[in-house]
Amino acid sequence: MHKKESDHLNLLFSISELADLVTGSSDLESFLQLSVDLVARHFNAPVCSIYLYNEKLKKLTLKATKGLKPEAINTIHMKPGEGLVGKSFETLTIVREGNAVNTPGFLYFKEAGEESFHSFLCVPIKRGVERIGVLVVQHREMDYFDVSDERAIRAVVTQLAGSIENARLLIELSQTREDTEVSEPLSFVKGSAVIGGYAMGKTVILDGKRRSILYDPMQFEDTFTKQDFVKAIEKTIRELKDLQKGFAQRLPESASLIFTAHFMILKDKNFIGKMEGMMDEGNFPCEAIRKVAAKYIAIFSSSPHAYMREKAQDVEDLCVRILNNFEAGDEDKHYEKGSIAIARQVYPSDILKFVSAGIQGVILASGGVTSHVTILARSLQLPLIIAEEPELLALPENTTVLMDGELGNVYINPEKDTVTLFETRARVEQQAQTISMEKITLTLDNERVVLLANINLLSEVPLARQLKAEGIGLYRTEFPFLIRATFPSEAEQYVIYQKLFDAMKESPITLRTLDAGGEKALAYSDSPVEANPELGLRSIRFSLKHKDIFESQLRAMLRAAAGKKRVGIMFPLISSIDEFLEAKLTVRNCMDALMEEQLEYNRNVAIGLMIELPSVLETLDEFAKEADFFSIGTNDFIQYMLAADRANKMMADHYIPYHPAVNRGIGKIAAAAQYHGIDVSVCGEMAHEKEYIPFLLGVGIRTLSVDPQFLPMVQQTVMNMKMSDAKEYAKKMLLQTSVKSAKAVLESWKPI
Ligand code: PEP
Ligand code: MG
Repeated sequence: MHKKESDHLNLLFSISELADLVTGSSDLESFLQLSVDLVARHFNAPVCSIYLYNEKLKKLTLKATKGLKPEAINTIHMKPGEGLVGKSFETLTIVREGNAVNTPGFLYFKEAGEESFHSFLCVPIKRGVERIGVLVVQHREMDYFDVSDERAIRAVVTQLAGSIENARLLIELSQTREDTEVSEPLSFVKGSAVIGGYAMGKTVILDGKRRSILYDPMQFEDTFTKQDFVKAIEKTIRELKDLQKGFAQRLPESASLIFTAHFMILKDKNFIGKMEGMMDEGNFPCEAIRKVAAKYIAIFSSSPHAYMREKAQDVEDLCVRILNNFEAGDEDKHYEKGSIAIARQVYPSDILKFVSAGIQGVILASGGVTSHVTILARSLQLPLIIAEEPELLALPENTTVLMDGELGNVYINPEKDTVTLFETRARVEQQAQTISMEKITLTLDNERVVLLANINLLSEVPLARQLKAEGIGLYRTEFPFLIRATFPSEAEQYVIYQKLFDAMKESPITLRTLDAGGEKALAYSDSPVEANPELGLRSIRFSLKHKDIFESQLRAMLRAAAGKKRVGIMFPLISSIDEFLEAKLTVRNCMDALMEEQLEYNRNVAIGLMIELPSVLETLDEFAKEADFFSIGTNDFIQYMLAADRANKMMADHYIPYHPAVNRGIGKIAAAAQYHGIDVSVCGEMAHEKEYIPFLLGVGIRTLSVDPQFLPMVQQTVMNMKMSDAKEYAKKMLLQTSVKSAKAVLESWKPI
């Protein structure tokens, strides 16, 4: 027998004796300690550790170690999925790394002193379906552990699992809630990065408790007079006006819209009048506000209409603001400038409020976000992390927090070293942003590629211009719809589109009609709840069903485009030629109506469609004959081609941009456009992902539309490749039939 294997057999016997021992032992920690000592000795490994999972805290904690610093016991925590340990636990697989420190996902804990241990072998401890924890061995030498060690350690762990499970349950039982709270102050949380960027500031916790002022009387409030009430109202009006002014500058689309409801309520004689009446009857001012607020909130909340229910939030917001303004102090104490908001939930309108109030970053402590919250935050360059850690909501207000939006890391009361590191990084990144761009993008073999910008908010246009975008390939018109309380009128939309045309001068602009519904639901539209919103009344389907809304948008677009040269209008989520023709006919009808009304408009706009559904692929020739251009929305195209929700993290492994079906679909679209001589571009996120650009160009796409901040990187990528290479590479890619072989080809691309 191989020397190593006979040793492993010996280990099994020793452990079984140890397991017997523990049943009689009352010292659980020493059982765990003896286990790690023995395993370390046998594997000739300087380090062996056991991490146990605590169900209540949803964390793995280092419970015993041989070789790491003993003070690290009970202080190192990880969430399932976090680091190699968390990964092994979550996926129930053995993780063996020959040089762990350089492995992506390795988490380094300074307090453990594990920097010098390169080889890493981690085995999940489970009993049936119950996950208990993990056992890790580490060694200084690189590539120390082999497959036979994997087998042996799995056998050891299987033998130990029952005893360890008992130990874990008993340890958990003996731990009071207080113990855990006192001994484990939150210092680091691993979340998922949604919007990159680095931000440090004091926390503002938005867990609903801030509203408690509306429900619990504050101290000394019975000393306030009617005069104080008048002052508080005046102060509130001043604050709202200031906030509104801030909006108008930063977000022209939403100017004066966010707080319209607040002003309307303040103007409602009944509202203030009722409060005054109550004060005259002997109620204290704060009491009167509370009572009136409660009544309004109850009425609005019980409405069957979503937009009315949303008003309850406005009343609540406003009354909290008034109550807060009874105390002297800074205007708008709601959010301190430079704060980091930790929230339970965020809506698009919250993102706007945060930005206008100078909030630097947002951490979502539970749940997820819709893609519109994400897009909005990105447009406003607001770092956003989803942390799924309810404990964050329990942090005291004004705790210093550092967010690393690139990695999704949250540091609570960060150490000086960490802060310095991030400050340096932020400085370097800022310097990189001043990168100068070439006016025209050419490959090394002089093939021309056009780079356009995707715009969601007018505030992004200056960056797009600064970065020399040659035009706008996708203007997502739904944002003015999403960030307000009612459908914008034709006149309001006209003003917004006109600003866009003015800002972009004569550059080409493609406007997309409303892409609402699905997860991008408009709160006020009151559409029925759908079981499968992504397969429901969304995008062009919504527009064709609500022709009045569609027509007012088209009219605003056509009017704003009057006198402009290169304007395109495209429809999202087209599934059949019939839909496209109906949408096109609606445009014609709008043009005719505008002519009759003798209003200025543009009759020469190009009409195209976004290709986002696989159903279009089989009738591409017909589409190419009817459309002036195609724009490939890869975000949805991949989602619908592979039936993998683009916003569902659990589907990430199924959402495969290089899937052969996706590749061939894109290839077919590009070929059809070329054959019929119409323009084709890609405006989904694939267009800004380095690894997919060679394929897109290789199949014949020459126009990429990306979020402005990606323009320098995309230009660099294109300028460092040869189109002839890209063509060869794409040909090879299109021959692949499996995901595996497509991946191999994807990885074979070597940038010059
Ligand atoms: C797409 O689906 O690729 C796209 C650009 O549209 P959106 O991301 O707005 O759905
Ligand atoms: Mg889309």
